[in-house]
Amino acid sequence: MGELCVRSVLVTGANRGLGLGLVQHLLGLPKPPQWLFATCRDPKGQRAQELQNLASKHHNLVILPLEVANPTSIKAAAAKVGEHLGGSGLNLLINNAGIVKITLLENETLEDMTEIYTTNTVGPLLMGQAFLPLLKKAAQGSPGSGLSCSKAAIVNISSIGGSIASFSAWEMIQASSYRCSKAALNMLTKCQSLAYKEHGILCLALHPGWVQTDLGSSGGHTPPVTVDASVKGMLKVLSSISEKDTGTFLDWEGKVVPW
Ligand code: NDP
Repeated sequence: MGELCVRSVLVTGANRGLGLGLVQHLLGLPKPPQWLFATCRDPKGQRAQELQNLASKHHNLVILPLEVANPTSIKAAAAKVGEHLGGSGLNLLINNAGIVKITLLENETLEDMTEIYTTNTVGPLLMGQAFLPLLKKAAQGSPGSGLSCSKAAIVNISSIGGSIASFSAWEMIQASSYRCSKAALNMLTKCQSLAYKEHGILCLALHPGWVQTDLGSSGGHTPPVTVDASVKGMLKVLSSISEKDTGTFLDWEGKVVPW
């Protein structure tokens, strides 16, 4: 299996956790992207220090502000990315930003359900809409008829927590609002795959494993998978998927996750 080779990539929530890990590994590929857009809520703030350090060493890394729960911010980022890319399109959009609230079902509120759905589900919907013209352009500019991440793709970082069929870890963590948002993200991925196939865009829901990040550790347990292992696995999966995988739900080891 070859390494991922993709001209331009955008990652949301890139200042820490899996997003930062994705950026680090993409920069370290034998053929790194020519353009890597690392987006976060506050690019100049303390929480983006590691990204800023990376950008000072890697001229292909562009840090842009992007709040995924804010349509104006998304549109502004899409315009900036378009400016940087000149006439070419965006090959790979990774909707990684996400939040969780560890709450018992009886304590879920309208506010929490709404906030988590807005970030984890509506965000990726709006991102797909705003970046569609650039993704289409990338697909049109790539030779060959099949679908791939090198050509044009939307990868939604989902969670096995949103799987109804392989329901996991309820005894440890309920987080119903998070589970619902990821189940809805899975459905969104399916819808995107059907709507965008004709434009040459592959769409995938990807479970990163239970990973040692702030989010992964927020239930008070230590997750088994390191950021490095998860990201290496996810990039390997992205390098190998093709037309038959669009609209599916895979994990970081390439296994199919039941909806
Ligand atoms: P982290 O909590 O470590 O990082 C989350 C990232 O998302 C941060 O960069 C954060 O930015 C950003 N973010 C949150 N809300 C917004 C927003 N409204 N706009 C823009 N950025 C935002 O989490 P992980 O790295 O673990 O999670 C990444 C993805 O992986 C998520 O979608 C998560 O659901 C998924 N996932 C993670 C698992 C795990 O075990 N870790 C398991 C299954 C899925 P800021 O610093 O500004 O808060």
